[in-house]
Amino acid sequence: MTASRHRVHDGASPVPSPQLVVDFVNSMACPGCRVDDAFATERAFARWSLRHLPDRLRADGDFPLPRLRRLRAATVELLRATQARRAPSLRAVQVVNSLAKLGLGPPRLAWAEGSWTLARPPSRRGRAGGPEVPIALAVQELLCSPLARQLRPCQGSACVHFLLARNRTQKWCSPTGCGNRARVARHYRRTRPSRAR
Ligand SMILES: [Zn+2]
Repeated sequence: MTASRHRVHDGASPVPSPQLVVDFVNSMACPGCRVDDAFATERAFARWSLRHLPDRLRADGDFPLPRLRRLRAATVELLRATQARRAPSLRAVQVVNSLAKLGLGPPRLAWAEGSWTLARPPSRRGRAGGPEVPIALAVQELLCSPLARQLRPCQGSACVHFLLARNRTQKWCSPTGCGNRARVARHYRRTRPSRAR
């Protein structure tokens, strides 16, 4: 596996942060977090994008929602397959690859500070496209990077979201949501009077 296939850390990287991939999949409806699908309507997506997308990835009014939903379903499949250590659906891999390939120009050798790097500059098409192209690039990069080991499903009751754990003990997609509910449930179990016999 290679972590550096696409890296172009020259300030113009077309690949957004790995956390965006987690925020992206966590936009799906979740019975545990009691949230609706953030991509259900254009208005809901606009709210989500204001909170989660960097300015440069925010499209003006024209949101490719069907493509974003397709990419999200594919990404969820890839994350679940990674967790279960099973082969993912090839269709899901294809969805991610076909969007990502729109985002990068051909590889270019660059000599910097005494060593070679393989730069993948953003393509014109990727710059002009919607946020699904850079997000697909971020999915590719995350899955092939050591950070993939920090991807976990949330342990919250009925939660279907993911987290990028910063340490071994981090288990919740949100400390104030699932984390807080788990603490309350634990407290309730400890303090509940035992049943009379
Ligand atoms: Zn959760």
